[in-house]
Amino acid sequence: MIFLKSDEEIELLRISNQIVAKTLAEMAKIIAPGISTEQLNKVAEEFIRDSGAVPGFLGYGGFPKSICTSVNDQVVHGIPTEKVVLEDGDIISVDCGAYINGFHGDSAYTFCVGNVKPEIVDLLRTTKESLYKGIEQTEEGHRIGDIGYAVQSYCEERGYSVVREMVGHGLGRDMHEAPEVPNYGRKGNGVMLKSGMVICIEPMINLGSRHLFFEKDGWTTRTLDRKHSAHFEHAVAIRRGKADILSSFEYIEQVLGSNAI
Ligand code: MG
Ligand code: MG
Repeated sequence: MIFLKSDEEIELLRISNQIVAKTLAEMAKIIAPGISTEQLNKVAEEFIRDSGAVPGFLGYGGFPKSICTSVNDQVVHGIPTEKVVLEDGDIISVDCGAYINGFHGDSAYTFCVGNVKPEIVDLLRTTKESLYKGIEQTEEGHRIGDIGYAVQSYCEERGYSVVREMVGHGLGRDMHEAPEVPNYGRKGNGVMLKSGMVICIEPMINLGSRHLFFEKDGWTTRTLDRKHSAHFEHAVAIRRGKADILSSFEYIEQVLGSNAI
């Protein structure tokens, strides 16, 4: 069942998602060679709690940490650990959730660590741009398949592949609500979009093939060919017919300045 949100509920979702956006900006401040993913997790958890929220991911389905940190060929759901220390040339997707006032925030950004090869930076740029191609299709009367088609065609035309096993989702009082929002699809197919819907669009795009496998921890996904993968996510409401992005990359990009991708 799809829960349509009132204007008041959308404003509460904006608060949750803005806390996530600011938490990701805290990540931008400290991501550098030598920092462990567990250190990132600690800073994120503290910032979320200081903002009056609760980490939305902590304990969700048994997930043990407050953020997901997925490095290089890891696709999503990487578990922060002292054992993973970032190195120059890495990329890291940080996916973050914050829960406050009964509503979840959920957004992700893939960061460069030091100097990253141009071909990898291009993967990041394309993935981020594909998210906005999806958002352009997010309006009343369009269908879920229009979003997936926009993301998929933009990425595949550039030689990248789209992960199928994991998809975007509705967002609200639960972190994962209906409908599913695949990053692939056919125009005119799927659920019709309506005002009051709030969805997370989150392309996971691979440099090589789309196939992936689960690591032994049962969470982390990694590309089968060990090539890099990127992930960007926004929470988007349909408000009075049009897309209203509830999360934000502005705080991150203020921190990154001219180093923003
Ligand atoms: Mg997320
Ligand atoms: Mg999500």
